[in-house]
Amino acid sequence: MVPLETTARLEMRKRAQELTTRHEGLRAEQVLKEVIRRDFPGRIGLVSSFGAEAAVLLHMVARIDPYVPVIFLNTWKHFPETLDYRDRLIADLGLCNIQTVLPRPDSLRAEDPDGTLYVRNADLCCHVRKTLPMIKALRGLDCWITGRKRGQAVTRSDMELFETQDRWIKVNPLIDWTLDDVAAYFAAHSLPEHPLKAQGYPSIGCAPCTRAVRPGEDARSGRWADSDKTECGIHFENGKIVRRPV
Ligand code: SF4
Repeated sequence: MVPLETTARLEMRKRAQELTTRHEGLRAEQVLKEVIRRDFPGRIGLVSSFGAEAAVLLHMVARIDPYVPVIFLNTWKHFPETLDYRDRLIADLGLCNIQTVLPRPDSLRAEDPDGTLYVRNADLCCHVRKTLPMIKALRGLDCWITGRKRGQAVTRSDMELFETQDRWIKVNPLIDWTLDDVAAYFAAHSLPEHPLKAQGYPSIGCAPCTRAVRPGEDARSGRWADSDKTECGIHFENGKIVRRPV
């Protein structure tokens, strides 16, 4: 007999495939309208880093429904510029349901008492500061929206429009967007740029783990540079779990 959990996961994968088939080819805004209004009404949120390209999805979601939850994982390690940019976008775009999620203080005391865990064990640091808080924040939701794109890195090249992860479906409306598409959207809607973008940061995460990229490098090469880590653990990498089980 197939265990119930396996059956549920198979069903979820089937649903993700059906959603991909139904929505593939739609414009990003249309995909978002469908998932917010029809497929997952009241059960969907946007997880946003308020990084270099985040304003695109934030703008689209705000126009469809400004009360869709926007989950911001405050790791306590963000650049101050990111926090300022977050506040500016919230005000400019009229976002009404921002959920700032923090790591548990007792977990930080136990695992990272001096705040330098990222040096010794970046996977564990991401687990404590991002993955566990995010999983708590997603309780009550069935689907989350991500800004991931196939062209951002070779490790993202075979993503699908809809994917499954743990008990959630993820939707990647910008999956086929290029840097030019993002730039055109910023220009068309007069969106403010993240202040670090002009300083060579096309992908922005926590300050200790992000550096500016060099000419010719892919956009995410400044994340955990000089290590083989490519994802923070809130995402799987091409089906491979790059974080601890939860
Ligand atoms: S990106 Fe770096 S500082 Fe941020 S949670 Fe992960 S390891 Fe820690």
